[in-house]
Amino acid sequence: MSKVKYYYDSETLSYRKIERKKGNTIKYGFIFLLAAGLFGFLIVFVASQFIESPRERALKHELTNLQLQYDLLNKQVDNAFAALESVEERDNNIYRLYFEANPIPEEQRRAGFGGVNRYNKYEGFDNSKLIITSNKRIDQLQKAIVVQSRSLDEIAILAEDKEKFLASIPAIQPVKNEDLKHMASGYGYRTDPFTKVRKFHFGMDFTAPRGTPVYASGDGVVKRADSNSSGYGKHIRIDHGYGYISLYAHLYKYNVKANQKVKRGDLIGYVGSTGRSEAPHLHYEVFKDGERINPINFYYGNLTAEEYARLLEKASLENQSLD
Ligand SMILES: [Zn+2]
Repeated sequence: MSKVKYYYDSETLSYRKIERKKGNTIKYGFIFLLAAGLFGFLIVFVASQFIESPRERALKHELTNLQLQYDLLNKQVDNAFAALESVEERDNNIYRLYFEANPIPEEQRRAGFGGVNRYNKYEGFDNSKLIITSNKRIDQLQKAIVVQSRSLDEIAILAEDKEKFLASIPAIQPVKNEDLKHMASGYGYRTDPFTKVRKFHFGMDFTAPRGTPVYASGDGVVKRADSNSSGYGKHIRIDHGYGYISLYAHLYKYNVKANQKVKRGDLIGYVGSTGRSEAPHLHYEVFKDGERINPINFYYGNLTAEEYARLLEKASLENQSLD
């Protein structure tokens, strides 16, 4: 119940009730509400500048956590880079060196992405720098891994080829040491057994009894096994690829046919004295790119250092060849 207010009327000398106008009440009420509303709004606005809401606190917490996670991720990227660097170093200094491939230069391994700015979509935020740096590092890492992976593909091919190459070149003595009577004659000037004239002997003669096994000195394909070449008698030619051919002459018998594939150490024939030969022996030649070269440079496959030294000494003696 609202208070009833009075005033003193000096004319009538009596107290009279104050009659309130209805319109005034509404007006004052409205002004009061407006003032209270504005004041309230001001308080909330000012408070919000200094006091966090629970939602803000939660978001802030999450942001801190995200920054922490980014830092951890960057550390992991650094670790991955360190591991990759060690692989790259071995790649350049061991693998590529061994297989005679050029090392991959640092600029190529660490090249970024040129041209348009790939990272402008991350710009304009408080943490833009952190996000852009992290993305750049990961992109670099990915690219470096691709470069390294390609290098290893290349090395794998070279290794496979080198293995094949090493198996192919004529690298063993074609007659077993224990079967040898002696190494009769080496590559170089020798006296011809028939004409007694000094002439160049393009192979090595291994004296051994008739029927002694003769072995392929490297992997390859038998190109010829016939006696249609003057002087050599029954002879075999093996094509080893890479420009190498080996030739085995004056054979008694063949153990292979033309176009047959052979492996190093396969029994291909037997020592004899067919063709222009003075006594049973194997005349052995090695061709490189069509030129006859000294076969003695290839016997690292099945001789000890001592045996090789002895062979070298004997082969260099200028004596009479058996041809
Ligand atoms: Zn000879």
